[in-house]
Amino acid sequence: MAEVKDKTDQIEQGNISVHTENIFPIIKKSLYSDHEIFLRELVSNAVDATKKIHHLASIGKYKDEIGDSKIVVEIDKESKTITIKDSGIGLDAEEVRKYINQVAFSGAEEFVKKFKNVKSRDEIIGQFGLGFYSAFMVADKVELISKSYKKNQKGVRWTCDGSTSYTLENYKRKERGTTIILHVAEDSEEFLESARIRGILDKYCKFLPYEIEFEEKVINKTLPLWKKSQAEITDEEYLEFFKELYPFSEEPLFWIHLNVDYPFDLTGILFFPKLRKEMEVRKDRIQLYSRQVFITDNLEDIVPEYLGLLQGVIDSPNIPLNVSRSFLQTDANVRKISNYISKKVAEKLKELFKEDREKFSEKWADIEVFIKYGMISDDKFYERVEDACLLRNVKDEFYTIQEYKEKIRENQTDKDENLVILYASDKDSQNSFIRSAEKKGYDVLVMNSLIDAHFLTTLERKWEKTSWKRVDSESIDKLIPKDETSVSTLTEEQEKDIIGIYKELAGENDVVRAEALGQEELPVVIIRPEFFRRMREQAMLGGMPNDFGDQINVLVNTSHPLAEGLLNKEGDARREMAGQLLSLAKLSQGLLTGEALTNFVEQSVEMISKN
Ligand code: ADP
Repeated sequence: MAEVKDKTDQIEQGNISVHTENIFPIIKKSLYSDHEIFLRELVSNAVDATKKIHHLASIGKYKDEIGDSKIVVEIDKESKTITIKDSGIGLDAEEVRKYINQVAFSGAEEFVKKFKNVKSRDEIIGQFGLGFYSAFMVADKVELISKSYKKNQKGVRWTCDGSTSYTLENYKRKERGTTIILHVAEDSEEFLESARIRGILDKYCKFLPYEIEFEEKVINKTLPLWKKSQAEITDEEYLEFFKELYPFSEEPLFWIHLNVDYPFDLTGILFFPKLRKEMEVRKDRIQLYSRQVFITDNLEDIVPEYLGLLQGVIDSPNIPLNVSRSFLQTDANVRKISNYISKKVAEKLKELFKEDREKFSEKWADIEVFIKYGMISDDKFYERVEDACLLRNVKDEFYTIQEYKEKIRENQTDKDENLVILYASDKDSQNSFIRSAEKKGYDVLVMNSLIDAHFLTTLERKWEKTSWKRVDSESIDKLIPKDETSVSTLTEEQEKDIIGIYKELAGENDVVRAEALGQEELPVVIIRPEFFRRMREQAMLGGMPNDFGDQINVLVNTSHPLAEGLLNKEGDARREMAGQLLSLAKLSQGLLTGEALTNFVEQSVEMISKN
């Protein structure tokens, strides 16, 4: 090293004033799994010092050559040291006393106090910048050698062995800047491995604004994409950047470049992933940076859960990181930032919808989970995005909410002026009901995902005088009750008889009703009442036991000619025919399986052979 120690030049030996006893052992133990952040902290300090000298030069307060601003990280296995060198503003003796002995130390002290108060260690891991003293998480002795940019200032050397005493001496050093030498403690020798250091630098320092060199290679991109002007970036560059962040992720659908400086400072790029599997736990999450330093990718409680489905980078110095997560939820800046992101995302979605509706509809399957999740959980987002929210019917036609209401208003308003929205959760198994509805001129939406169940309750709550009914929840006449009624051709006595016949065949919990459904309907129809079905679904979602049973209602269509036909038969023939009709109803609902299905097929063949 060029620096030569001049032993005669000792300034002082002293004690750092401490209010918390034994702060170092606490620092060391407290964040065991997170020791690696020492490097983030020291490199960030080096970057800050470099920024400062550039700033001074830019305002004419520093007139000398700035020179190379590279920050160099080195490891030396022999001497067991890690060195971080910068050419920043440097420190003079006075500043070492002030910033290292006092400021840095009070920061560390505060940290320890906070740490003692948090309930869960996770609350601060990876979030809190412990600052300069995090060096003591891995080192049992730290040297700081520095020369200030100020004229006529001597170089200084400060050392501290992790106790509260330090030495400060003059030190011959020509070049401006600071060198930190960590004498790595025995239990931290993993940090002398080059792969380990490279890994840490790659995680936290990949986008720092000045070059970081390790083993003769620059490890970072000093101008990350989100800091560039949007107009200068091509689509390929956005996709390339995405690949760099998430090498194993599928290509995103689109992205939003964020850039705001008032009332808070935020830049970033959010990518919109394909979200087909709604319940997928996302590994490739949004990364949070503060002035290009990686902080965390655990944004739980920082942004609402639906925004957490996005990917990309948010960079903001305004997010307070040195507080607990529960505090973040109520922090005004954090709320404003969430709100801003939600607004930008909604704007982007609307823009895409307006620009090319057809393309938007094609992408719908990939984005609906996000939109619906957002609309369910955030009223503001609901309002913002409502116009771009699409409803898809069984014919694969897309409508906006407004268009859809208009489309069905005339035909699907019931006698009490309620708008009834019909939907199918499974186009195949509910096919016969869809067909009945279509015969009446009704439209049927597809609501087939887990999130749809919640989404439609949100819509029901938001829209006045509307109700949502699954096509198989009632007989077609009762789905949308109107004043017209079909006439039963049976007497009351006959209706009782026919109910009796089916009661014997139906399950214990099943309800059997006689109803005039109209000649064009099947002789027996099975429905699943909306209320019970939703209760059951909700219980299942909540992981509760299914106490409601799978209740089905058997509707015997008294206006079908086969109703009388059945009553004209007796004994086995009657039972056989009713059984066959009930099986057909079950079959069309997808409820006939296993042995019951096999029996039904065999019986049918037998019956056909008899005729
Ligand atoms: P913080 O950076 O949050 O202020 P630190 O404990 O990391 O807290 O550092 C305390 C102070 O020491 C800094 O504010 C800065 O003034 C000074 N300092 C630390 N590292 C350097 C460095 N490499 N060059 C110049 N000054 C530094």
